[in-house]
Amino acid sequence: MGSDVEAGGRDARPHAVVVGAGFGGMSAAARLACCGYNVTCVEKHATPGGRCTEIVREGHRFDVGPSIILVPSAYFEAFASIGDDLNNHVELMRVDPTYTIRFYDGTKLELTGDLQRMETQLESMETGSFKRWGEETCADISYGHDNLHMTLENIAHRNFYSLFEFFSPLNAFLLHKLKVLRKHYNYISQVFKDSRLRSAFSFQDMYIGVSPYDAPATFSLLQYTEFCDGVWYCRGGLYKISQALAKVLQSRVTCVWKLNMS
Ligand SMILES: Cc1cc2nc3c(=O)[nH]c(=O)nc-3n(C[C@H](O)[C@H](O)[C@H](O)COP(=O)(O)OP(=O)(O)OC[C@H]3O[C@@H](n4cnc5c(N)ncnc54)[C@H](O)[C@@H]3O)c2cc1C
Repeated sequence: MGSDVEAGGRDARPHAVVVGAGFGGMSAAARLACCGYNVTCVEKHATPGGRCTEIVREGHRFDVGPSIILVPSAYFEAFASIGDDLNNHVELMRVDPTYTIRFYDGTKLELTGDLQRMETQLESMETGSFKRWGEETCADISYGHDNLHMTLENIAHRNFYSLFEFFSPLNAFLLHKLKVLRKHYNYISQVFKDSRLRSAFSFQDMYIGVSPYDAPATFSLLQYTEFCDGVWYCRGGLYKISQALAKVLQSRVTCVWKLNMS
């Protein structure tokens, strides 16, 4: 790339070093390279992927870390940031029904994208619950949808260069809207009277290690994304995505892997 080289052969681009070639490091390296950085990504293990790796024994393959995808758009964005398409590398399959919850009284609830089936199941547990859930969970103006998008746009996708940028009046308003001081279980108890439904639509907080009794109501974004964006498998395991991202990174951008560093 001629324009990147100064007289004397030095690379004119600013240099960025990314420590760790997990999903996070590789996605950051891809984005930095596309922003014009000369990126060096260092990884202490012999293969990229971080916690997303696999063990193969006697022809059987086991995921060591992640096995399902929530918010697939995040993976597509990582590939798109280097001008590629995740679909060129792997096949994603929606898991539907996502799971079946079996309750203490013998009843069960299948989480599925089939709205009619959801209506039948919810209404059999609590009259009027489907409409309230639909209003809360599925509609564009729903709380879970808003929580996800407000959090991504205003917090996750933003840089905060000082404490004042974070503790700003705008963020104070946002935290109020996201109901960060309200407990998730209290919030969901307003939507459902039936304790089975209250559990079914708040236990997902435990995916990230938080009890719904302690988690902020903001976490309703998890139930929203699980239902509306779906839960996905990658044929051959998520490690296939790590491998593809590493390959694309090495072939499309200036990125030096220094594997086996400690
Ligand atoms: C058992 C398990 C199941 C999971 N299931 C799911 C799931 O189903 N779905 C899902 O979305 N998420 C799941 N997760 C979470 C997901 O695996 C992680 O959120 C994700 O892999 C984190 O990526 P990362 O790049 O931030 O960190 P990591 O994957 O931890 O990558 C960090 C990398 O940095 C390297 N490193 C660290 N220090 C140095 C250093 N000093 N020098 C050089 N290299 C360094 C490490 O070797 C590693 O490769 C699961 C996690 C576990 C453990």
